[in-house]
Amino acid sequence: MDTEAMSPTPPAPFRSRALATEAVHAGRDDLASLGLHAAPIDLSTTYPSYDSRGEAARIDAFATTGARPDGPPVYARLDNPTTARFETALARLEGTASAVAFASGMAALTAVLLARASLGLRHVVAVRPLYGCSDHLLGAGLLGTEVTWTDPAGIADAIRPDTGLVMVETPANPTLAEIDIRAVAHSCGSVPLLVDNTFATPVLQRPVEHGARIVLHSATKYLGGHGDVMGGVVACDEEFAATLRQVRFATGGVLHPMAGYLLLRGLSTLPVRIRAASASAAELARRLSADPRVARVHYPEVGGAMVSFEVFGDPHRIISDVRLITPAVSLGSVDTLIQHPASISHRIVAEGDRRAAGVGERLLRMSVGLEDVEDLWADLCQALSAEAAAPARSSAAAQVPRTRPSAAERTGSAGR
Ligand SMILES: *Cc1c(COP(=O)(O)O)cnc(C)c1O
Repeated sequence: MDTEAMSPTPPAPFRSRALATEAVHAGRDDLASLGLHAAPIDLSTTYPSYDSRGEAARIDAFATTGARPDGPPVYARLDNPTTARFETALARLEGTASAVAFASGMAALTAVLLARASLGLRHVVAVRPLYGCSDHLLGAGLLGTEVTWTDPAGIADAIRPDTGLVMVETPANPTLAEIDIRAVAHSCGSVPLLVDNTFATPVLQRPVEHGARIVLHSATKYLGGHGDVMGGVVACDEEFAATLRQVRFATGGVLHPMAGYLLLRGLSTLPVRIRAASASAAELARRLSADPRVARVHYPEVGGAMVSFEVFGDPHRIISDVRLITPAVSLGSVDTLIQHPASISHRIVAEGDRRAAGVGERLLRMSVGLEDVEDLWADLCQALSAEAAAPARSSAAAQVPRTRPSAAERTGSAGR
């Protein structure tokens, strides 16, 4: 075949492209020259090689540097071309040199903690609230991590010689509390700051631009975006990424290539999904704030598709009464989900710690999807009305004469 006649490789982009453009093109730059439109899915667990010496050299290179193997991947626990496309794209969106994908958000956080611990840096400084399982992983000692919980102002004082990581979540799960990343990064000095950016996504916030060194995502949420793929990813510089690849190779928390494909596809609609869902979430937050049946609404300055709110009465009534909204843990899907953090997502955090972090019994967390906002509001309204009319509502119960036990008191004691 006359190679001269083959289509030339497309010119490299000569200026940085906008986020919406990167979302649909990053990780796919070579497809047209391969004669493909959709990204290929490579399900191989192993790769043939007639040259064992060459393969040995690639294994050595990976073992010493952690760099992506040059040439075929050797074995799927080292690298996978489909997952690599997702990693390239996510790094581009977060503005980092590299990204390393894992089987879940928790596998990603585990790899970060192990990578730091391998240098003898087992101490972590963290700010609550964090996602319940992240809180649990840091505090339960499962990986030998020791944690000092503090508020953002206390970070500098909490850092010790063996501190390997400062970890924050902003907006935080589930209170949507926000942290000034730049100020916190300054307090960290030379200790890397990890920001869990699952809630904001790179569409609304790029933590590295504010001084964070490591960005973590539960890709299960907005990056996948359809509630049908589990994954995690760490965006960071290439040096740390190389260590993470070595940890991933040694511990095996790899993302399945099918998940890598779905996450790459999810990224292409991420900007439009986030913008549309955020507009509905902001509108619902506005209406909830003006509603006398609602005690308090949490909606972040940065925006986003999450709204948390506190009711006066029994939050479990709302969960049982929604019809269009799905009562389910997790978030970031095309459909709207609602859950009770104290019972579900943050159940694993000790009650006292949960309360101190603002995760009260009356707090509900809602992940707003892409439904019409009026339909969502109608569903919330009917659930709130049912809750407000319920005998369990404390203010209503208080009005009942004390001589006879109220329905609320009877149900309350029966429920204990
Ligand atoms: C869900 C979640 C995680 C954990 O991710 P998995 O993919 O469920 O392992 C971590 N951080 C935040 C903020 C989350 O919402």
